[in-house]
Amino acid sequence: MTIYAAHVVDTPGDPFAGDPAAALAEDGALLVCDGVIRARGSLATLRAGHPGEPVTRLDGGLLVPGFVDAHVHFPQIRAIGGLGMPLLDWLEKCALPEESKLADRAYARAVAAEFLDGLVASGTTSALVFGSHFAPAMDELFAAAARRGLNITSGLVLSDRILRPELLNSPETALADSADLILRWHDRGRLRYAVTPRFSLSASDDMLDACAQLLGKGVWFTSHINENLAEIATVAGLFPGARHYLDTYGRHHLITPRSVFAHNVHPGDAELAMLAEHGASVAHCPTSNCALGSGLFPLRRHVERGIGVALGSDVGAGAGLFLPKEALQAYFIQQLLGDGGLALTPAHLLYLATRAGAQALGLGGRVGDLAVGKDFDAVWLRPADGSTLAVNLRHARDTSDALARIFALATPADVAGVWIRGERATGSLDAEAGAVGAPAAVAGDVLVDAEVVLGLAEHHRERQLAVLEFDDGELELGRFGGQQRAQRAHGHVVQLAEDGLPALGGRVQGGELVADRVEPVQRRGAPLPDQGHAFDRVVRAPAAHPVPVEEHQGHHASVRHKIVCGYYPSAAI
Ligand SMILES: [Zn+2]
Repeated sequence: MTIYAAHVVDTPGDPFAGDPAAALAEDGALLVCDGVIRARGSLATLRAGHPGEPVTRLDGGLLVPGFVDAHVHFPQIRAIGGLGMPLLDWLEKCALPEESKLADRAYARAVAAEFLDGLVASGTTSALVFGSHFAPAMDELFAAAARRGLNITSGLVLSDRILRPELLNSPETALADSADLILRWHDRGRLRYAVTPRFSLSASDDMLDACAQLLGKGVWFTSHINENLAEIATVAGLFPGARHYLDTYGRHHLITPRSVFAHNVHPGDAELAMLAEHGASVAHCPTSNCALGSGLFPLRRHVERGIGVALGSDVGAGAGLFLPKEALQAYFIQQLLGDGGLALTPAHLLYLATRAGAQALGLGGRVGDLAVGKDFDAVWLRPADGSTLAVNLRHARDTSDALARIFALATPADVAGVWIRGERATGSLDAEAGAVGAPAAVAGDVLVDAEVVLGLAEHHRERQLAVLEFDDGELELGRFGGQQRAQRAHGHVVQLAEDGLPALGGRVQGGELVADRVEPVQRRGAPLPDQGHAFDRVVRAPAAHPVPVEEHQGHHASVRHKIVCGYYPSAAI
C-alpha cells in the first residue's frame, strides 16, 4: 500500500449535466493498493487510518486521472505536421504512404513503441486506437501495449476499395484475420478489440457486412464519419440507397453502445437522432478538424441530444498526443461558434480529457476519475519552477482557475509522473532498464544473478528486455515475452526488505523456476538455501519507479513488483 499526498483533482460528476463547478472534486491524498485506489481523503485522515504505510509526496501541481484518447492512429505517429491539405489529399499524400510501410513487421514494431511511449509521455493511459491495415502490425501493437500495461482498444483497419492497393483486403480475408486477432487479444488484460472499417468511403457493403459478423463477439466498433464535405459527397455517391452517411453503417447494424464514431463535424439532425437512439458515442478531434479545415464541431447539438462526446487527438492529422491541447482547441472552437457554441469551463475540459473518454469506451467503472475502487491511472502535472505555467499556478485563485491555467499552458514537458494501474511509468521502457553493478544494494532492490539477466534479455526477441514479476508471492519470468523460456537463465533473485536484508527469494535453473513460489527468507540476512555466493548484479528500479516491499505476518509474503531487465553487452557483465 502507498499513500500518495497530492492535490488530487478529477470530475466524478458530469459538467454537461448540471452545474459544471459541482462536477469537480478535490482531495489531498489517495491510498493505493495493488494498483487500485482504496481510500481517498485528506492526508491526515489516510495516515491516521493506515499508520505505517509509506507516503509518496507529489508536491506542487495537480494529480489528475490518466487521459483517455478516444481516437488516435498508431501508424501515423511519424506523419504529424502535414499542413495545408484537406482530408482526402492529406490521406493520399501524407497518411497512407506512411501506413503502407507497416507491411514490414519490424517497421511496425518500431512505430508501435514510438506511438505507445508517446502516449505515456503525454499522460494518456487509455485509448481507442485506430490500427493498421496489416495483421502482424496489430500483433506488435497489442504486445507492446500489454508490456506497458496500457488500456488499449484497437483493431485491424479494413478497406476493400479506393485506397492504395497494398492497403486493401477482401471481406473474406478481413473476416479471417480479424477473428484471429480477436482470439489472440480481445479481453486479454487491459486490451480489447475494436472492429475498424476505415470509413464507408473505402469499405463496400460486403466489407461492412463482414464487420457486422465480427461484432457478435462483444468487441467494440469504431470508424470515421462526416469529417469533410468532399468525403461526405463521395460517400453519398457510393451508397445511393443510404439515407445519410451514418445510415451506411446503420444498414449493417454497426451503431451500438459500443460504437465510437470519429469527427461528425457535419451531422444531419436525423443522424444525431440515430446516434442518440442507439447509444453510440462521438470522438471530437479539435486540432485535426482545424488543421485539415474540416469544420467547427457542433458540440451543443450533440450534448442537447445526450450523445456522449469524448476527445481524440487524431494523430497524425492532429497536432500531437497531448489531450489538454485538444481540450484547449475544443474550447477555442466553441468560442468561435458564438451563439451556436457551448462555452466550456475548466471542469468541462478536464472531463472531456478524462472521464468522457472512459464513458465512451465503456471503461467508466474502472478509469476516468480517481474515486475509490478505480484503477490508479494518474498524471502528475507539475511545471518546472520558474516556468510561465508555474508562475500562473502560483497566482491561481482556486482549483478551477488552476485547471484553466494548466489547459492554457501545459505541454508534455509538464508531465512529472504517470501511473498505470499503480505502477509508475515513464515514456520509454528502454529508459527504465535498471542500473547494473550498482555498488550497494538498498531496501527494495532486487538482486539478480548476471546469468538470469543475460539469459532473459537474450531471449526477449523484440526489445531485448525481459520482465521478472513478483506477483502475490509468485515469481514469474518473461511474462510478456511469449511462451518460451530463456534456456540459459539460471541463478537467484532476491528482494530486499526495508532493513536492506533479503526478504524474498526465488531460484531459476535452465530458464525454469525451480521453486515457483517466492519463499520468505526465514532468517533475515541468512543466505538462501543452497546459495553460498554473493549476488553480483543489482537490478535497481529507477528512482521514478519505487519498489514496494510489503510483508505480512506469518508465512505469507506478498509483493507485487515488476522489474524490467535491460540487455547488457557481455563486456559490461
Ligand atoms: Zn482518424
